[in-house]
Amino acid sequence: MKKTILAMLSLAIILGSCSRKDSNLTDNPLIQDWNTPHGTVPFEKIKLTHYLPAFEEAIKQHNAEIDAIIDEKNAPNFENTIAQFDYSGQLLSKVGGVFYNMTSANTNPELQTIEEKVGPMMAKHSDDVLMNAKLFAKVKQVWDNRAKENLNQEQKMLLDKTYKKFVRAGALLDSEKQAKLRKVNEEITTLQSKFVSNLLKETKSFKLVVDKKEDLKGLPEWLIEAAANTAKEEKQNGKWIFTLDNPSVFPFITYAENRSLREKIFKARINRNNNGNEFDNKNIISKLVSLRASKAELLGYKTFADYVLEDRMNKTPSQVYQLLEGLLKYSVPAATKDASEFQKLLAKDVPGAKLEAWDWFYYAEKVKQQKFNFNEEETRPYFEINNVRQGCFDVITKLYGLTFTERKDIPVYEKDVTVYECKNEKNEHVGIMYFDPYTRASKVGGAWCNGYREQFVQKGKKVTPIITVCFNYAKSASGRTTLTAEEASTIFHEMGHAIHSLLSNCVYPSTGGTSVPRDFVELPSQILEHWCTQPQVLRMYAKNEKGEVIPDALIKKMETVGNFNIGFSMTERFAAAYLDMEFHMLKSTDKIADINAFEKKSMDKIGLLSQIPPRYRPTYFSHVFGGEYAVGYYSYVWSEVMDADAFQAFVETGDIFDKTTADKFKNEILSRGSTDDAMEMYKRFRGKAPSIDAVLKNSGMKK
Ligand SMILES: [Zn+2]
Repeated sequence: MKKTILAMLSLAIILGSCSRKDSNLTDNPLIQDWNTPHGTVPFEKIKLTHYLPAFEEAIKQHNAEIDAIIDEKNAPNFENTIAQFDYSGQLLSKVGGVFYNMTSANTNPELQTIEEKVGPMMAKHSDDVLMNAKLFAKVKQVWDNRAKENLNQEQKMLLDKTYKKFVRAGALLDSEKQAKLRKVNEEITTLQSKFVSNLLKETKSFKLVVDKKEDLKGLPEWLIEAAANTAKEEKQNGKWIFTLDNPSVFPFITYAENRSLREKIFKARINRNNNGNEFDNKNIISKLVSLRASKAELLGYKTFADYVLEDRMNKTPSQVYQLLEGLLKYSVPAATKDASEFQKLLAKDVPGAKLEAWDWFYYAEKVKQQKFNFNEEETRPYFEINNVRQGCFDVITKLYGLTFTERKDIPVYEKDVTVYECKNEKNEHVGIMYFDPYTRASKVGGAWCNGYREQFVQKGKKVTPIITVCFNYAKSASGRTTLTAEEASTIFHEMGHAIHSLLSNCVYPSTGGTSVPRDFVELPSQILEHWCTQPQVLRMYAKNEKGEVIPDALIKKMETVGNFNIGFSMTERFAAAYLDMEFHMLKSTDKIADINAFEKKSMDKIGLLSQIPPRYRPTYFSHVFGGEYAVGYYSYVWSEVMDADAFQAFVETGDIFDKTTADKFKNEILSRGSTDDAMEMYKRFRGKAPSIDAVLKNSGMKK
């Protein structure tokens, strides 16, 4: 995942020095210059009390910088307006860079309280800037006269991006419509947070309490132990409690032999917030869909999908539908074939029974063990975390010439964090990277890459990036932390984002690094995952405690199992992406009377199997109804298509480390930020647009 924390500030704001300092701010390290190696954060000096005054001062400075653009006497042009605006707000970016990284990687209740104040403060500031009529008048004048200025490609992209950011926020509307839009935005935000809070409450309220030992049959020991602990916490000693949290419900439906209990927990999961009680989300969805359609119409678009897709790589709804339908054509038959195999196994256990959704995970696991004799525990000793990290560094060195050297003199915020200096082939400094591997109470879940400072050029001087990659691996008490193969590939994934920032070679803050369209940002990360499991790469780093290299037979087994059940996993994701599109193709006047009926009608269009619900059903589809990912779920699918197609370029040369191809990927994509249209950049690398063939071939669904 690529966090867009800095983008949350919605503005082009980046690092820099400050000009005015109030006397009570002089001892605030957040607004001072940092005399640390490469300007890294002096974590040890920053106290919680420093954040709010620093944000206030940074907003004040940003406003003053914007006033200076407005007060400029000369006619507005690219340099005195667009570039000036892009370089403004640097102190705010510096403060936000530290703050938002700490709220994810090292938070606490006090910091969360500050976050509640900073959120609305930043939202208001963003609105104030983007709805500033005087500022927009200048931006628009530059835009209208763009043909008269001799702009290069990056400048053209920046002008386009800046102008559209204002327009898409409603800058062109009259004041009556602007007021309406602000009201719609406010209602959308309120409904989205209600959706999320309902989901959290209903998910947490369900408990499957087991009091008979025989009902635990088939479950792994670690799961039984965790369920006993949950019961203890709930003061139900001697019982076992399973919940709808992923680490509980999924292993339960995968291993539990008791079919009716599988049914019970599975149904509770897929009917979350769909039960007509106080937490029901159906009404919220109807309102949200209609409000989003109104927003799109106010801004002059046919549908919300048209509005969102305008600045993506897939620019129209029909392109997204074509992508999804093209893939479903293969994944649905593949899943149907697996279903008939599972049906046969079920018939042996329960004669006459029909395969249901709560049987799928259970029989898929049975086939995996019987047919492939595969057990994840077999591979684990070969994926020691430091070896995996070093393996990933070595792959990056071979491909792009970057090297990583540990720096013990750079301050960290937590003792398990290590810091690396990245250099290029000429031994020149490229950037700094923090590596934060382990889970802890102060860190939010998941894995991500984020920046403290992004690369750009100011007054002819290159500002180098400072980035961080964070994971949530369980630290082993033995000192040798091992990972599953999937966990290992997550290191490659986040490092892919990291090199997208590190290799950036752009001029403006808003066009550098990972500032690319949302359906392009996962290409550098997902493509690097391909190297993680290549036999020749595994032989480089996958070694057990005795230093023995992973055996070829095990590599072979990993390869075969890799594609098993792929029809299911693809279909459920494609179905969710399709559903996301269907909701956002509606007009504001199209009222949905029944959310469940709407879902069924949409899923019937793609011939979805009754045993496969979409990965997210509407009432708990929080990507789409709880936040900013509406008309965005397809991006995951699109990225898979692109990364498979792009990796194929390496495979076709017969050498996955082919220098010419790697150079091309670096020069046309990794170093280019958003200095050009994403599809054009891709085509320059690949010679053609991405096709779905590679992903279908890799998955074994197309020969
Ligand atoms: Zn990612």
